[in-house]
Amino acid sequence: RKKWKGSPAIPPEYDLRKDVRKIIAEIDKAGIKTIGKIDPQAFNWPISRKESLEVLNYFAENLLQHFGDYQDALHTEQRFLFHSRVSFAMNSKMISPKEVIDRVLEEYRKEKAEIDISQVEGFVRQILGWREFMRGVYWREMPEYKSKNALDNQNKLPDFYWTGDTKMNCLSHAINQSLEEAYAHHIQRLMITGNYALLTQTHPDEVDAWYLGVYIDAIEWVEITNTRGMSQFADGGIVATKPYVSSANYINKMGNYCSGCTYDHKKKTGGNACPFNSLYWNFLDAKKESFNDNPRMGMMLNLLSKKGEEEMEEIRDRARQIIENPDQF
Ligand SMILES: Cc1cc2nc3c(=O)[nH]c(=O)nc-3n(C[C@H](O)[C@H](O)[C@H](O)COP(=O)(O)OP(=O)(O)OC[C@H]3O[C@@H](n4cnc5c(N)ncnc54)[C@H](O)[C@@H]3O)c2cc1C
Ligand code: SF4
Repeated sequence: RKKWKGSPAIPPEYDLRKDVRKIIAEIDKAGIKTIGKIDPQAFNWPISRKESLEVLNYFAENLLQHFGDYQDALHTEQRFLFHSRVSFAMNSKMISPKEVIDRVLEEYRKEKAEIDISQVEGFVRQILGWREFMRGVYWREMPEYKSKNALDNQNKLPDFYWTGDTKMNCLSHAINQSLEEAYAHHIQRLMITGNYALLTQTHPDEVDAWYLGVYIDAIEWVEITNTRGMSQFADGGIVATKPYVSSANYINKMGNYCSGCTYDHKKKTGGNACPFNSLYWNFLDAKKESFNDNPRMGMMLNLLSKKGEEEMEEIRDRARQIIENPDQF
């Protein structure tokens, strides 16, 4: 998994822009409450089977070649990178997951000299592995799954999730993009917005409401398993073997958000210290009892135990300020 540093060149997003003013007018007339921003003259999502197949073909022919390498990359100027953007077409059943996989395998067989099998494996795994797994978890675990809160998180989701108005560059990019495009790629959802919500110990109901409202591909069976399970660890480990939390270190490693940020990604405490850092250690400290029996958390808890009480007090204090006043950061 690589950081994207300007090359290889990313082909432009497939252009399906269409005028949807008539539909927007109908939605407005019906008094339906909406969030986010839309350019009603340039709606760029497939709305038919024909368009869905075009998006899939474009991915197979132009983006698949680098998908695996850059699927975890984060970049201020590139919202879609080499991602396929086929989730909405699949979730709304305009195309089937089998069709998507078959088309990708067909392209691979045709272009073996150009497309390495690792790129194809990285893609097929997301659909045949994660997507199908989430479907199974949903049908096995619902309706109890919907109220799981294994870590007993109780905080409110910061208001800036609904406005994008925050000084934290990574969150500002991921949230504004979500409000404008109804799309963020997996690592933005997991390691930026999801990570921050978990580190600030936000109630999973609030996190679910946001994810379900904001993304074009948000259908409950695949949204809730990702949000409550994979991202918030609210199911206590049914979906993931450990919580996906990180400090600024990972965010800086995978992208360029930190270089244009108000905050210093290397600092844990002090006025300009990156909020993710104190929140990360504070989260581990606050929830350590829940992870005592989890071997995958051993290394993190071991590092935590080496921190002195004075340092931990400063970290807890900084984290408390952030959690109590999220919209000031
Ligand atoms: C907190 C959180 C919430 C999410 N909510 C949704 C949601 O509401 N609907 C949704 O379809 N996906 C969701 N995902 C999974 C994933 O982020 C999206 O499927 C993906 O970003 C869609 O963009 P893409 O089509 O360009 O995907 P690509 O990166 O091109 O991946 C290809 C396909 O793989 C499948 N896929 C990849 N990861 C997952 C996964 N973890 N679970 C299920 N399918 C996966 C998707 O169908 C996707 O279209 C969520 C992930 C997280 C961490
Ligand atoms: S310094 Fe912290 S808040 Fe700023 S972009 Fe990096 S991780 Fe995000």
